[in-house]
Amino acid sequence: MTDHFAKDLLGKPANSAILQRLKTEVAGFPSAPGLAVILVGNNPASQLYVNNKKQACEAIGIRSFEYLLDADVDEQDLASLIETLNADTQVDGILLQLPLPKGMDESRLLSLISPDKDVDGFHPFNVGRLLLGLPTLRSCTPYGVWELLKYYEIDPSGKHVVIVGRSNIVGKPLAAILMQNQPFANATVTVVHSRTENLIQFTRQADILVAAIGKPLMITAEMVNPGAVVIDVGINRVSDDAHPKGFRVVGDVYYDEVRHVASAITPVPGGVGPMTIAMLMSNTVNAYQLRRKNNKGD
Ligand code: NDP
Repeated sequence: MTDHFAKDLLGKPANSAILQRLKTEVAGFPSAPGLAVILVGNNPASQLYVNNKKQACEAIGIRSFEYLLDADVDEQDLASLIETLNADTQVDGILLQLPLPKGMDESRLLSLISPDKDVDGFHPFNVGRLLLGLPTLRSCTPYGVWELLKYYEIDPSGKHVVIVGRSNIVGKPLAAILMQNQPFANATVTVVHSRTENLIQFTRQADILVAAIGKPLMITAEMVNPGAVVIDVGINRVSDDAHPKGFRVVGDVYYDEVRHVASAITPVPGGVGPMTIAMLMSNTVNAYQLRRKNNKGD
């Protein structure tokens, strides 16, 4: 290994800049935007995410409404709650925290959320608009990756972006964002996945390599094109007896190795993570503005 160290692309400064801008915007609104968060069951990671979202709302002046439901709640009751929130003029955004308990039809429930309140950007209507390059509520994590690149002035235009992972919430929407004919996009995008043969052949071609896999430390130094920008979306808990909690959080990228090869890299935690929550706030403010423009808000 050399003594070269990649620049760390930290999410916190970008997150703070976005939240500060939103706070100023919200202060000028005639009423506070409202975000309803539905949490089903007591998954500790989900509880932590919901708390973080609540705190971010408070910090910028968004009202948050929390709905904590038992894991054995009837799916029809959950559907009715979504319908009620769709009709509530004080609610601009609805977030159904995933994962839902086993047996629930996640995609049906997500599709029940009114597209103009779909602040997670998962509704087929919004996904379609994203693909078409039309203004829309974008899925928060890929939107956050895009904003992070903008913050650090890493322009993907003309660059080869290789995304490892084709999920509906990260890989696919990120490909849709970065391939558009628009400023800070115009990338040549390759999406690879678990059925890709000779993965390394693709990852080594990337000017910007994005890992959204869910496999701890899978991307090693030899898989990275020297000088590439590496964006690690992965959040994985690995057991660690030395840690008071018995686990630590690592990304999909072997940071300690790859930082000697890449030109810039997002650490985990502290890279993409803070961006996801900032973009949720941004989507909620956008939803509020759009709904008022369409005379739907309170
Ligand atoms: P999914 O499990 O939905 O998708 C993982 C993708 O990785 C799939 O497309 C899968 O391929 C691909 N994959 C799995 N194994 C391999 C392999 N060996 N080689 C190549 N590709 C592989 O995960 P998500 O997209 O939801 O999340 C990815 C990671 O990002 C997770 O660690 C998650 O916790 C994290 N995450 C972080 C967020 C944040 O705020 N920072 C938000 C959302 C997710 P295939 O389709 O063939 O199965």
